[in-house]
This record gives sequence, C-alpha cells and structure tokens, in this order.
Amino acid sequence: MTTTIVWFRQDLRVGDNPALAAAAKMGDIIPLYIIETPLNGARDIGDAGKWWLHQSLLELDKSLGSLLVLRGKPGDLLPKLAKASGATNIVWNRCYEPNAIARDTAIKADLVQRGLTVESYNAALLFEPWEVKNGSGQPFKVYSPFWRACLARGMTPPKKSQKFTIANAKTNSLPPNDWQLLPTKPNWAAGWEMLWTPGEVGALKRLDAFLANDLQGYGELRNRPDLPNISRLSPHLHWGEISPRQVAARTTMAVDAEGRSAKDATKFLSEIGWREFAYQLLYNFPTLPSQNWKPAFDAYPWRTNKSDLKAWQRGQTGYPLVDAGMRELWHTGYMHNRVRMVVASFLIKHLRIDWRQGEAWFWDTLLDADLANNAASWQWVAGSGADAAPYFRIFNPIEQGRKFDPNGDYIRKWVPELGRLSNDDLFWPHDAPPMALKSAGITLGKTYPHPIVDHAEARIAAMKGYEAVKQAGANVSNVA
Ligand SMILES: Cc1cc2nc3c(=O)[nH]c(=O)nc-3n(C[C@H](O)[C@H](O)[C@H](O)COP(=O)(O)OP(=O)(O)OC[C@H]3O[C@@H](n4cnc5c(N)ncnc54)[C@H](O)[C@@H]3O)c2cc1C
Repeated sequence: MTTTIVWFRQDLRVGDNPALAAAAKMGDIIPLYIIETPLNGARDIGDAGKWWLHQSLLELDKSLGSLLVLRGKPGDLLPKLAKASGATNIVWNRCYEPNAIARDTAIKADLVQRGLTVESYNAALLFEPWEVKNGSGQPFKVYSPFWRACLARGMTPPKKSQKFTIANAKTNSLPPNDWQLLPTKPNWAAGWEMLWTPGEVGALKRLDAFLANDLQGYGELRNRPDLPNISRLSPHLHWGEISPRQVAARTTMAVDAEGRSAKDATKFLSEIGWREFAYQLLYNFPTLPSQNWKPAFDAYPWRTNKSDLKAWQRGQTGYPLVDAGMRELWHTGYMHNRVRMVVASFLIKHLRIDWRQGEAWFWDTLLDADLANNAASWQWVAGSGADAAPYFRIFNPIEQGRKFDPNGDYIRKWVPELGRLSNDDLFWPHDAPPMALKSAGITLGKTYPHPIVDHAEARIAAMKGYEAVKQAGANVSNVA
C-alpha cells in the first residue's frame, strides 16, 4: 500500500483539492500542516492572518478526521516524517509567493534525491501565472486584455472529491495550545469568531449566502461600505478554504439554474480576475511587494512622519471616512474595498508617506492579507503599479464619504462620537456650526481630532512631489 504525505499550505480544504485527490487515488494519506514562522526567511504571516490560520486548521482537522500539525522547517520535517511513517510519496498544491517558490523548488530537489516521489498541483488559481501571455508571448501588464485572454481559455471545472484513508503517521501532532498563532495579551481578536467563520464549511456557506442575497446589484452596490453587497470571501480565498474554480462554477450555476443576475455575476467574477492578475504580476515581477513597479516612482520625496502614520493607523486623522475605515480594520480584521482605496490614497497622497508603510500595516492587520493582492493594490493606488490609477487622481475623502456612504451609516458605526451629527455636517464636522457640534456632544480637538492635514494644501504638495517622478521619466500617459 502506497502512503502519501499531503502537505497542506494555502489550500485548507477537502473539496477541489487536486493534491489530496491524487494522493487518495494512490493509497493511504498523511495530511500535514507545518507551522513555519517565518516562512523561508520571508516576513512572517501577519497577526490577523495567524488568528485565521488557527481557526482554519481546527476546521481542516475536523473535515479530514485528522490533521498532523508540526512546527519547524519543512525541508527537515518532510524527510523525517516520510522515514517514520514509511511514506514514499509527497504531494502539495503550489504556492506562488517568491520565497515559497524558492523553498518548494529546493525541497523538491532534495526529496527526489532521497528517492521520494514528489508531485505538485494548481489549486489556488484559475490559471497558472505563467500560462496566460499576450500576443508577443510576454506577461500582460494591463488587466482588461489579461482577463479577456483568461475568459477566452475557458474555466476548468472543480475536481471531484475522492474518498481517502488516513495512515498512522507515527509522529505526534502539536496540540492547538502550542501552535502560538493566537493573540494573548491583549486578545485584540476577542469576538472575531462572531464575525467570521473560518474553514471550508464557512467559506461555502458564505459564497451561497452572497449569491442568494447580495449578488443582485453587486456591480454598483459593491462600492457602498454601508451595504452588504460584497462576498467577504477574501480571507477564505487567501487560505484556500474555497477555490476560485469553485467560486466560478457555483456563480455560473447561480446564473444558469437559479436565475441570478448575469451582469452582476460577470462583474463579481471579474474581481476574481483582479486576483489572478495580481498573482501573475507577482510571479513575473517578484519584487512587487518591495519595489516600485515603475522605477520612476523611486524619485518620489516621501515624508517620514511617525505621528501622522500613527494617527492614520489608529483612525484619528480627523477625516471621518478615513477614520471609519481604519477603525473597521482594527476591530474586524477587514475593510471594505472602496474604503481601502480611500485610506491608501490618503496615506500616500495626503500624508505623502511611502505606500510600503501602509502595505506593512495592512499585512499585519488584515485577515485577508495576501502578498500578491496587497502589493498590487497598494501600487495601484500609488500609481507606481501595473495598470494603476494615475497618481494625479487624488481622492477627496470628504466627497467619497458623501458619495459612497450617503446616509452616513458606515461612518456612524465606526466613528460613533460623530453619530449625532446630521448628514450636513457628518462628512466634514470641522465646518459644522458651533451649536450643531455642541448639541451632538462634540468638542473638536478633544472628542474628535482636528484634521491632521488640510485637503487643498495636501493636494498641492502631493502634485509637487509627483513632479520629481515625472522628471525621473515616468510615462504619464501610461499611468492614466
Ligand atoms: C490598498 C489595498 C489593499 C488590499 N489588500 C488586499 C489583500 O491583502 N488581500 C486581498 O485579498 N485583497 C486586498 N485588496 C483587494 C480588495 O480590497 C479585497 O480583495 C476585497 O475588499 C475583499 O472583499 P470581498 O471578498 O468582499 O470582495 P468581493 O468584491 O466580493 O470580490 C471577490 C474576490 O475578488 C478578489 N478581489 C476583489 N478585489 C480585488 C482587487 N482589487 N485585487 C485583487 N483581488 C481582488 C478577492 O479575492 C475577493 O475576495 C486590497 C485593496 C486595496 C485598495
């Protein structure tokens, strides 16, 4: 009987799991997760991500019946486990972060040399990041033709699940109390289990609830942070509790068999397309998380200002929509996409703080922190990325609030000290009549901060900074 180690990583599910299915066909399996912190010299998983991982591993253990959890270096642990258990095969689904690719390549070579059979599969993406190329055989640098080329290829359906039998690993699993993934003092994640349902079952339920209740109108309403018309699947997708193939197949079925809106479904799947685009960018440009994709942006005169950075992180900028977003992030591990764009623009353009500082904060605090999506999105907002928003398009955070949170519900939820202001004053309390402030119980500078920067002045300063980029040779027409 062949025994195969299935090394789980960012594929924490049983359904549509090609490595698991292949192993189950060959004989017995040993499902394994290795807590490796930090991964191969790369930066560690962020704290919010660790909280999710802890819950997700518990769920995977339940779905499989048994999950062996070890801590250490995969390159040391895998051959040891193979020896102890008598496993001759090792399989995994591919990861696409540059450090993970380097780690897996080295491990595979070593294991093969030791006489073990190693196979890897695609479980995380609709298409391998090297597969979809433009007419000249080069990686796409613009999203729309990339996604058109993806759609022209057609989607692969999810893999059917296989029955499996678990072999005795002859190795003790690390108990959950020793995983060291949860926050302790203070437990800033208290209550998150009421907001989120990590794990495969939770992911599938989330998708079904979204398709049934909130897909209708997604195309427009996805911009409204006060409304529920988004999937909130991002942490589930990051940890591979659900695959994009499953999302695409289930969404298509909801349109064909359940009469859901084809237009909204197309828009929703195009967002999955942005995820594919980010992964192919990271694969082809591995420095994406640390270096400007457009080198001309190296000339930007970033400010270093710890107190402004702290005010931004804590949601104390005096700009209600920015503060609401940063507080939503801190309290829930999530922030709505529209607001992510506004807060990122505020940090980069109003405060002129390097996008990498914002990327690092998101990395630590987002439950869906994802190297490809995070870096691509920050560079998109900065204007330094591929197919990015032009630098000179600077969001007005006050108008963004009025437009996308028209009733002020989102701001009132996360900035409750402004809750009693009327909509006339809520989006910019600094010009509110003294009587209105008084009757709402607000003392500016005490109960709510004065703005840390003036919008009009910040805009002029940002554009001045951008002159340096232009001089350094940025192709401005290319960023528009
Ligand atoms: C500054 C900034 C940082 C971001 N950092 C991350 C991150 O670390 N991890 C992350 O998953 N997303 C990130 N995003 C993208 C986006 O905000 C989230 O994917 C989205 O808000 C997740 O909510 P949802 O699942 O309800 O999205 P939906 O609107 O329901 O979209 C469905 C799925 O499509 C994918 N998706 C949607 N928008 C994007 C996008 N712009 N780029 C790539 N994939 C996308 C996600 O996997 C998402 O779950 C970032 C965006 C910005 C502006």
